[in-house]
Amino acid sequence: MATLYFHIPFCKRICSYCDFYKVGALSLLPRVVEAMHCELEERSDYLGSRHITSIYFGGGTPSLLQPSDVERFVEHCRELFDCSEVEEITLEANPDDLTEEYVKELATTSVNRVSLGIQSFDDGALEMMNRRHTAQEAKEAVARLKRYGIDNISVDVIFGIAGYGGESLRHTLEEAILLNVGHISAYHLTIEERTKLGKMTQRGEYMPISDEESEREYMVVHEMLKAAGYEHYEVSNYAKEGCRARHNSAYWQGVEYLGIGPGAHSFSRDNRTWCTSTAKEYAEGVVKYESEELTELDHLNEYVMTSLRRVEGIDLAYIEERFGPKHAERIAHAAKEWMEAGVVQRVGERLAVRAERFLVSDAVIESFFA
Ligand code: SF4
Repeated sequence: MATLYFHIPFCKRICSYCDFYKVGALSLLPRVVEAMHCELEERSDYLGSRHITSIYFGGGTPSLLQPSDVERFVEHCRELFDCSEVEEITLEANPDDLTEEYVKELATTSVNRVSLGIQSFDDGALEMMNRRHTAQEAKEAVARLKRYGIDNISVDVIFGIAGYGGESLRHTLEEAILLNVGHISAYHLTIEERTKLGKMTQRGEYMPISDEESEREYMVVHEMLKAAGYEHYEVSNYAKEGCRARHNSAYWQGVEYLGIGPGAHSFSRDNRTWCTSTAKEYAEGVVKYESEELTELDHLNEYVMTSLRRVEGIDLAYIEERFGPKHAERIAHAAKEWMEAGVVQRVGERLAVRAERFLVSDAVIESFFA
């Protein structure tokens, strides 16, 4: 079992908080698409003969691809891999790309899940984040997807935006709930130095919210989505029954994946590889990689990190069997303090961070690292 990821690092407009690798030179997109087909062909043995369970188009802005481009990628995957068990094909999209014409065509492709970057239903917050769409356009995009039969929808929202907590955040969550979608991802705004927001913060033009306020907003998100029937199954992810993100869940469970495109990462057994070419180099056929070999300790730390971000947590019996009793004992010992503080709970051999305390999961993860 393995998954495929296509990275489309193009954006029409740069969001004020975004630190991902992306480029605005859309004229490169057609050549990058062709180069991605070549890379897919060349690296098709990376996953051995493992069958594919999900395909994900992420970015950047994958909805800058035409639906026919997306379908061509899927068809190419079917030629190169065993895709008979693919359950989920996700396209990340910006609401304003989802025009009537676009959605109509998308509905004829193999894409069966759309992840929409809505971020807020407050036009002031959207403007401050330099998003391309309005709250109304986001609602219309969801309605349009449903009208054409694409009802496996995830929406992203952002909290922790100074000046847009309180009523504004509640309004965003209420609107997100009213959309009646199966999946909601809720991320805390992070301020990265190199971004516009980072520079505004350095100049004193933006004042990030306090840790206490972050915690309060986190709990508002947690409580409201829980009350609306969403399970808080991963730090930033909420799903209605049967609607967990399969692609991301596979990633958190250490399933191998092949990433295609400038900046994409791949992971296979003992190796992690990432493409370091710029979009321009990539379009010219200059595809460079860096990679690292993974040791058993890397695997253990990876398992701890991804599992503790999920509601299922880690399995001490598995750690003992795969990595040895020494590590299981060390982690069980380190967990005591967190259990006393009410952050971690133990059920049988499983240790998990309580969903209400996911916000401190990074500290727990660090204390469990080998
Ligand atoms: S659309 Fe996504 S990748 Fe592009 S700038 Fe905005 S946050 Fe970054």
